[in-house]
Order: sequence, then C-alpha cells, then structure tokens
Amino acid sequence: MSPRAAYVHVPFCRHRCGYCNFTLLAGRDDLIDDFLRAIEQELSWLGQPRPVDTLFFGGGTPTHLSPGQLDRLLVSVLRWFPLSEGGEFSIEANPSDVRPAIVDVLSRHGVTRVSLGAQSFDPAMLAILERDHSPEEIHRAVEQLRGAVDVIGLDLIFAVPDETLDIWQSDLQTAIDLRPDHVSTYGLTFEKGTTYWSRLKRGELRQAGEELERAMYAEAIDRLTAAGLEHYEVSNFAAPGRRCRHNEVYWTGGEYFAVGPGAASHTGGVRRTNHRSTLTYLKRVLAGDSPVAETEQLPPEDKARERLVFALRRLEGVDRRQFAEQTGFELDELAGPALADFVKHGMLEEHDGRIRLTRAGLFVSDGLWPSLLADQRYTARG
Ligand code: SF4
Repeated sequence: MSPRAAYVHVPFCRHRCGYCNFTLLAGRDDLIDDFLRAIEQELSWLGQPRPVDTLFFGGGTPTHLSPGQLDRLLVSVLRWFPLSEGGEFSIEANPSDVRPAIVDVLSRHGVTRVSLGAQSFDPAMLAILERDHSPEEIHRAVEQLRGAVDVIGLDLIFAVPDETLDIWQSDLQTAIDLRPDHVSTYGLTFEKGTTYWSRLKRGELRQAGEELERAMYAEAIDRLTAAGLEHYEVSNFAAPGRRCRHNEVYWTGGEYFAVGPGAASHTGGVRRTNHRSTLTYLKRVLAGDSPVAETEQLPPEDKARERLVFALRRLEGVDRRQFAEQTGFELDELAGPALADFVKHGMLEEHDGRIRLTRAGLFVSDGLWPSLLADQRYTARG
C-alpha cells in the first residue's frame, strides 16, 4: 500500500542560527527558483499522484519563501500529494515571516497546522539563540494565524546559556497565555559542526547544568499539563484532539514519502535519504539524476527495536501483545533484560501488559534508548 504521509524539506533561512545543524542554505535566496524546479522534477518521479492524510513542510524555514514562491511550491506538492478530506497539512514558520500575504497563501491551500519557531519570549534569550524575530512578532504571528489555521503550535527551547529558571517559567506562562493548541519543547543541544559547538569548546558559551535543565523540563511538564495540554510524547504537548498526526506516523513505525535535500523517505520497507548538500541535490535533480545518497533496508529485528524506542517515547507506551503482532517480536525476546532493569529502577512501569515511561524515566529517557537498540541477547551472552 502506498504511504499516506509526505514530508517536504525547504532548505532556506535568512541566516543560520548558531545552534542549528539542519540541512539548509542561509542567505542563498538566489537558489530558491532552482529549488522549486528541482522539487517539481523530483515529485514527477512519483509517476502518479499519491493521496496522503498528512503533509508536513519543514526546513529550514518554508515561510522564508516569498508568497509567490510558496504558492508555487504548495501548488506543485498538492498536485502530487493531494490531501484527503480531513487531512492534516502542517508547515513550520518563522514568526517574523507571518504576514497577511503569507497567511493568505497558507489558508488558500488548506494548511491546517502551523508550527511557529518561537523558541523564547525573552529578548536576551532570542539574541543568544541568534533568532531574528522579536517577542512581539510571535504575538503578532499568533494573532494573524488564529482563525486562518486549525492548529497553532509553538516550539520552545530551554536550557539556553545564561537562562534562569525564572526566565523559563515566564516563557512558559507567556506561551500558555497565547493559548496554543500544541507545544514542542526541547533542551538546547550543542551539535558538532555548529558555531555553538565551537563557541562551547572555546569557553564562550556555558552549557546549562543538568540539574537546572531537569528543573526546566519539570516546569514544562507541570505548567503545560496544568494548562490542559496533554503530554503525549517526551517533547510534545497537545490540546485534546490536536496531536501532530504526521509525527505520529513516524513514531508508530508508519511509512512516508519525502522530497527535498536531506529528506528521508520510508516506502516499501526501504529508507532512502537524499543528499544533505542542497547544492548537490539541485545539481543532481536538475540533471535528471536521483538525489538519493543512502538506501537502507533495516533487518526486521532492528526495525522492531527502533519501533520500540519510538513507542516508548510516546507516553501511552507500548502494549506487549500489539507490539508482537505488529513486529513479529516479543518484547522480552528483543530487550527483556534491559526492560526489566528499567522497571526495577523505576524508569519504566508495566500495567496490564503495557509498558511506559514513569515520570522519573522521562528525565533520563535519552539514556535508556541505547540499551534497547543494542542486541540484548548479545549483551547477555557477552
Ligand atoms: S530558523 Fe530554524 S532552521 Fe533556520 S537556521 Fe534557525 S534554527 Fe535552523
């Protein structure tokens, strides 16, 4: 069966924020028209329109395109990935790009969900993060989007260098006062290859302490859930009925199409990842060559392990019987010793055949996954 989800990667931003290592070109708007031609070319290789239930435009910053360019992109994508009745159409947006002409393009093409890269409402934090929008622009963007799309999501970052618990509490309160339908929140990470990484190494930036970062995450959980948002995935909160359906396809091991530089698809049991370099992607596609850089067919056991981790990141956890039916692997066969150990130490809990993260487990979840992804039988033997 053809996948019912599609991702489109738009690799342009005005400038590159210091912490960002996504696939994108900053300040190369001269290449946007080539990109639009390349996407049209790549889409044409689908052979026929593929109706989908969820469509997600990420980046980079899709709204960095001019209204005319964005309109052209949406028209081409919707031609190849027509959205089913009641489908979810998400797009990531920079608050400073949200102006009437852009909102008009989004609502004309049936965008249902906008994920705003707010990150913080504190001018000093926004400056440290090298964001190019002001707190006022976030408020204005929310006002303009309200009524134009069904779901307004806010992305927030915590544990920014020099951030205090007070600043984060005030960010959370401001976000809640804006009545978002969805909040995604992550602790800042320093990725190799970013300017933040080099600055950290040179001692110019100070990473938040572990204790402070945990206190900030706890504040997020407590305040957002008290405001009526359901904590449904380690980093995601949603008002009732407002979860991100597209991300749930990833988290439940579903298949999806993907186009654009660096985009990774999962179709027919095969993962294909396009070239991460936008220039290489453009060169190849416009010359009529495949942009795929890596093809991978995961063995069923690795796939099952991956599915286990994604399932456990969701707060509803994993049902033993369902998991075995869907993957062909019993949980104990895959990761029995590790699961038992995490239950024993209070990181996971099990009730009626369903295993899920405990509150304590939420704070250390990243540290749990490696042992679930490794072969436990090997570990047990060796
Ligand atoms: S706006 Fe987002 S995608 Fe663009 S550089 Fe900044 S963090 Fe990266």
